[in-house]
Amino acid sequence: MGNSTEQQAHEEQINWLDDVEQGDAPQPLAWRVRTSHRVRNLKIQVFPHGGVEIVAPPRTRPRIIEAFVAEHSEWITKTRNQFAKVRPPEPTLPERIELIALDETVQIHFAVNSKAGFSETEGLLTIRAASLQGPDCWPLVQNWLKKRAKQVLPDLCMQTGAAIGLRPKRIHVRLQKTRWGSCSANGTVSLNAALLLRPKAQVHYVLIHELCHLRHMNHSKRYWQLVEKHVPNWKELDKTLDQAWQTSPNWLIG
Ligand SMILES: [Zn+2]
Repeated sequence: MGNSTEQQAHEEQINWLDDVEQGDAPQPLAWRVRTSHRVRNLKIQVFPHGGVEIVAPPRTRPRIIEAFVAEHSEWITKTRNQFAKVRPPEPTLPERIELIALDETVQIHFAVNSKAGFSETEGLLTIRAASLQGPDCWPLVQNWLKKRAKQVLPDLCMQTGAAIGLRPKRIHVRLQKTRWGSCSANGTVSLNAALLLRPKAQVHYVLIHELCHLRHMNHSKRYWQLVEKHVPNWKELDKTLDQAWQTSPNWLIG
């Protein structure tokens, strides 16, 4: 167990992220927040497909971030428009989704139906939605991904934990926009359903990362030594995962 101040700090950061990542309510501009120890001031990144990311030092208050976005909204809009001119928009609905972690490709068929839902048979996913617009379809694709992830990630996490002698009390699978996983002081490991879209080595690293927090509830030197024992190339994987948000498809982050 780490000292309690560090535990609290870790928890705070987790809660804080939870507070701001619920960006699903209709708002004029959708953006996501990523915390980074590497930045001292708030930073805005606009991506070619129109995604907006705010990079913030840990524990920046949500109100400060909102004010910062409001202050720069004109610049953000201008930059997005410039990108839109040179790059065709990403298709609204995906034709297929590659579950890279499972070596599986799922074809998707979208159908307009007043009764929303989804069903899956032999690699074909059928999404029934009120319209073929992204906002009607995306949440259903997200629900399907969550369902698939709940079928595999908890078992995988338990197996990985058993192999290194660490056992989480509970495992939650959620779809999160800014984090691959988290671990709380009460022994709950939370995993992002979007891990199914990543290669196996990256998924393994996230599991090891969170499981090692069961022993060290911080990012201390001893914590990283434990991670490194199980995943020697963790730095490279960590960096790749950190940048992976930039290429998230719109059905996932929309
Ligand atoms: Zn961590």
